[in-house]
Amino acid sequence: MSTPVRVRFAPSPTGPLHIGGLRTALYNYLFAKKHNGTFVLRIEDTDQTRFVEGAENYIREALDWCGISYDEGPGKNEKFGPYKQSERKSLYKQYADKLIAKGNAYYAFDTSDKLDSHRKDHEAKGKTFIYNWHNRLKLKNSLSLSAEETQAKIEAGDPYVIRFKTPEGKTLEMHDEIRGTITIDTNVLDDKVLFKSDGMPTYHLANIVDDHLMEITHVIRGEEWLPSMALHILLYKAFEWQAPKFAHLSLLLKPVGKGKLSKRDGDKLGFPVFPLNWTDPKTNEVSSGYREAGFYPETVVNFLALLGWNPGTEQEIFSLSELIEAFDLKRVNKSGAKFDPEKNKWFQQQYLQQQNDVDLAKAFESILTNKGITTSLPLEKIVSMLKERAIFPADLYDLGKFFFEAPTTYDPKAAKKTWKEGTAELMQELVEKIKTITDFSAANATTEIKAWITSKEIGFGKVMMPLRLALVGSLMGPDVYEIAAMLGQNETINRLENAIKNL
Ligand code: GLU
Repeated sequence: MSTPVRVRFAPSPTGPLHIGGLRTALYNYLFAKKHNGTFVLRIEDTDQTRFVEGAENYIREALDWCGISYDEGPGKNEKFGPYKQSERKSLYKQYADKLIAKGNAYYAFDTSDKLDSHRKDHEAKGKTFIYNWHNRLKLKNSLSLSAEETQAKIEAGDPYVIRFKTPEGKTLEMHDEIRGTITIDTNVLDDKVLFKSDGMPTYHLANIVDDHLMEITHVIRGEEWLPSMALHILLYKAFEWQAPKFAHLSLLLKPVGKGKLSKRDGDKLGFPVFPLNWTDPKTNEVSSGYREAGFYPETVVNFLALLGWNPGTEQEIFSLSELIEAFDLKRVNKSGAKFDPEKNKWFQQQYLQQQNDVDLAKAFESILTNKGITTSLPLEKIVSMLKERAIFPADLYDLGKFFFEAPTTYDPKAAKKTWKEGTAELMQELVEKIKTITDFSAANATTEIKAWITSKEIGFGKVMMPLRLALVGSLMGPDVYEIAAMLGQNETINRLENAIKNL
């Protein structure tokens, strides 16, 4: 039997979850569910200086809103817990010590001032300072000092970090599930810090230790971690642990196609790049979220899934369970995925059309209530007439406010086009005609008014366009007879008379 799949989403709570991060979570979730595996949420908060209040809750709320629920995580099925690295603090040092004992890591006593001056010296010569095989013996560490000197320093309480001793002169061949084989010369790597002088592990050590202890089988994460892959694989080798499989997802690109999609792009072009609204606790600056912009979570999940993955068919609309069924890491693109806000809207429109009229009517009702409008009109029917043109539930109000409020002004362009010499008289005749209709249903009003127009031997447009203008205030909206029937005979007559008076 093969090992059960276990994946993790491991965000650092340093701010709101960007949609790129949400996509990483989604791909992990889809992969786990596809393979009947486990999706773990781990909070990587070892860097206390970058901790942001509220960010962890935001991450959980965003996952929740999207319906991407984790199987294990903080406060849930804590089999391998705790799932917050700050609560696992005491665990990491022994692993750093283990590497020292095996000769794969060393104590380094160089002060930050000293390292800075090395960096500056190198820069002055147009070089970059890298702490690794070529200079580690010239620096102050347990490789260059004697065992006694090292011991004395530690006992004296001299601050130190623990660095990885990157193997020298090796060609490392690595496999990425999306990118294939990647080869790297270990001599270009630096001896990364694994354990800091403040007693905390760095991301690299904590990440590897936790992935191992949590029995993670596949690491699916953003491309920004590709440069760390070599170190991570070397760490697994040093510990003599089996490494998980790696898959690095390509970046989300700006709508123009070049450069990483940033918060600025969203602000500039007016679309959200976050799942939920976020208020920066320091500046109070608000970044808008998909939820508050009126997108459905199904929309966000669907378009994010297709941003970097393709099903190999023409199908574009996928429910979460269809995504689980279809998802395959082999179909995740190597190149960056261009973020297209118009396509997002298209998805949203598709999902709005799929909503049933009862639910949509409920949403519409609360929009109306917020605007102080109460109505006895059948909202389900109105929604079914309007939804074709709506993208967001809020659009229903703009598209259909005339149902609840008689026009007080008329679109001047439309008036110029439709209200001509003789129109007022014609509309007055129409009023008289309408008064004679006993069954003012849309179907019957259509038949009777059309027959009347035909008998007058004039074009339909001559009557229907000004009628629409009188009822709606512009030339938009659904079928004009449907509108009239919905407003009722009296209101239709009132609005026609108003238009005759005002136009
Ligand atoms: N804490 C890292 C992040 O926020 C996790 C990277 C990884 O998945 O290994 O992106």
